[in-house]
Amino acid sequence: MAEKYRCAVCDLEESSCACDKYCFLCQGGNEVRLCSDGLYYCLECREACDLEAQV
Ligand SMILES: [Zn+2]
Ligand SMILES: [Zn+2]
Repeated sequence: MAEKYRCAVCDLEESSCACDKYCFLCQGGNEVRLCSDGLYYCLECREACDLEAQV
């Protein structure tokens, strides 16, 4: 039962979000996923900051 995260910019779920997806921290584009704070993060930053992507 994963809660649905929403994009902080457009307030849509990740699957519906049409925003340009790049990492909030490093502006990278590697495996960018929406996280619980509504921002997108790349794989490296998610691991570094212990963030969980939308399941
Ligand atoms: Zn969006
Ligand atoms: Zn990053």
